[in-house]
Amino acid sequence: MAMQVPALAAVIGYAVTGVELQSACDQHDNARKMSANYSILAQCGVQWFNRGMPDSATKLSIFDHSRASAGLRYVYPVVSRRAGGVSVGINLNTNNACNWRCIYCQVPDLRHGSAPPVDLPLLGNELRGFLAGLLQGDFMAANVPAEARRLNDIALSGNGEPTSAAEFEQVVELIGQVLGEFGLTGSIKLVLITNGSLLRRPGVLRGLTRMARLNGEVWFKLDSATPAGRLRINHTRQTPGAALENLRATARLCPTWIQTALFEVDGLPPSAAELQAFLNFLARCKDEAIPLQGVLLYGLARPSLQLEAGRLSALPGPWLESFAAEIEVLGLAVNLST
Ligand code: SF4
Repeated sequence: MAMQVPALAAVIGYAVTGVELQSACDQHDNARKMSANYSILAQCGVQWFNRGMPDSATKLSIFDHSRASAGLRYVYPVVSRRAGGVSVGINLNTNNACNWRCIYCQVPDLRHGSAPPVDLPLLGNELRGFLAGLLQGDFMAANVPAEARRLNDIALSGNGEPTSAAEFEQVVELIGQVLGEFGLTGSIKLVLITNGSLLRRPGVLRGLTRMARLNGEVWFKLDSATPAGRLRINHTRQTPGAALENLRATARLCPTWIQTALFEVDGLPPSAAELQAFLNFLARCKDEAIPLQGVLLYGLARPSLQLEAGRLSALPGPWLESFAAEIEVLGLAVNLST
């Protein structure tokens, strides 16, 4: 397959994850390293990458996070509003099963449970094909808005809790192998987006250790720090204390951000007691010197697909900015997306 240098430049010429545009010579060298993978491409959807979409209305946007958008089982593209580029998503929960039920969750037909067994060879082939399409095809030009044509990361996320997959550790190993094949080890991030509830399972801890060596990062969900709030927002009975223990173990293995969504329910913002409990939780993390990267603070960006959808609404931007400032007073960085 001929390499398309302009498209490649669009893919890798960005600074966010540290992949700088190198000379064309360097990139062709990368392409030669990847040439061993070309035979795989035809098996796993590269035709789709090069076919493009019919018009600009169908380009991927920050509002289109459909896991089916690439027509693959595990791998899908996401344009990330936070990072302003393309994230290669890996959905291990192909059965739409999660051990939580967050009232703002955007997973359709969400059901309670764990990820099904992972077909590791298929996942590897899909990831190789997808990366080749991004790095060598015209996927970006055909499918991604001009302002977002850069590769940010690989993200273990999807239609449920990714660490519920029994093969989580092997999945991380496999991603590391594929990144190595493409000469990308350490130059793009590997992000785990998790509710944090299963992170002390031995296989998950081993996976986190491996992730740290792959420029990994954990986004650990914490929407409430009270038992009642966690039951109401996340439908989990896992206590804030258990979440703190998991956070402690996780942050010491791999760089970790707390990820928090705040919104109105029935027209009301979170109560003062809820907000104070959240700040107290963060203050305790600071007191214990848990090495957090900071807080990723989100408003309500996309419509919930849960029963409670009609009861949820976005908080005003200034409200979120004011709360972000309260977090910053604790000495934690805040990355706010309204
Ligand atoms: S943890 Fe994530 S996938 Fe699970 S219910 Fe909550 S938002 Fe949905």
